[in-house]
Amino acid sequence: MPPRFEVQAVDRAVYREQLRSFVPDRLIDIHTHVWLDQFKAKQLQDPLRVVTWPQRVARDNSIEDLTETYRLLFPGKKILPLIFGNALSRGDDIEGGNDYVSRSGRAYGMPALIFADPAWSETEFEEKITSGHFLGAKVYLSRSDPKIAEDDIQIYDFLPRHQLKVLEKHGWIVMLHIPRRERLRDRLNLTQMVEIEKNYPNAKVIIAHVGRAYCPEDVGSAFDVLAETRNMRFDISANTSAENFELLIRAVGPRRILFGSDLPITRMRMRRICEHGMYINVVPKGLYGDVSADPHMREVEGDDAARLTFFIYEEIEAFRQAALKTGLGSSDVNDAFYRNSAEMFCDAGMPESFLEM
Ligand SMILES: [Zn+2]
Repeated sequence: MPPRFEVQAVDRAVYREQLRSFVPDRLIDIHTHVWLDQFKAKQLQDPLRVVTWPQRVARDNSIEDLTETYRLLFPGKKILPLIFGNALSRGDDIEGGNDYVSRSGRAYGMPALIFADPAWSETEFEEKITSGHFLGAKVYLSRSDPKIAEDDIQIYDFLPRHQLKVLEKHGWIVMLHIPRRERLRDRLNLTQMVEIEKNYPNAKVIIAHVGRAYCPEDVGSAFDVLAETRNMRFDISANTSAENFELLIRAVGPRRILFGSDLPITRMRMRRICEHGMYINVVPKGLYGDVSADPHMREVEGDDAARLTFFIYEEIEAFRQAALKTGLGSSDVNDAFYRNSAEMFCDAGMPESFLEM
């Protein structure tokens, strides 16, 4: 385990007093990244399209590290993750990473998604998913054509229609981290999300991180639009906004909400605040190196630092607050943390034996 990951008394207290009885004993984590450092490009070839702070939390996340992280963070719980790689850069060894995820999934009895490249043809995409025993694909904006400026990237630039057609045919899953500065409230994102739902009703589309709506300002009228949808699912990973979780629950109900962690980054020690619509991760001074150049990071010391616990605990606590406010019962919580994903996996072709974790 990396030296920066240590369970402290403050963490044990949060888990014991706020989370342990809220979270069901068996849970499914719909959003985890598993990769080895050897798959990462050693030189950055493309313009950097992703924020830098996640790289400071974990250099890699082997399957052994993931299972050990669960043991440390969720004592007494059984967790089945959906695993996928982290081939964010076009220079990464995407094939090596996918092979590792596929082998890990089979060795540990865990469902997996392929990390897909939009340049793959329909046949390549289908053949790679089938031969690797994947349940679908994880797609990411940084794999779009480098000629497109980051602000102009659209969903179809990294989730092309010919790949959606394949997902539709098989009823496979796609984990979609939506692009664009305006995040969930972006009109083009919302239009395309609704269009995908209409044109590919059999594909199981998961909008990661509640569409990156981390602050109240990221929402706009998105939930009015989303309340009219029927299929798309939302994972709550790496999001700590109780306010936005509450809006999500009211808009789509508990059957389309999926618990996810986005491990390894959520083993980070932090608390997220919003200022003028921008999220800021408040972290203990020095723990993640020199973060002075990253506007999304702020350091604190003394008692303020000592109170900080894990990002993943903050996420679950925010969801607990939203569940309280909206009156979700324990069976609704079990739907979001287990049943919705279990049913989706089996529909997408996962052997039911994987659920006997
Ligand atoms: Zn992720």
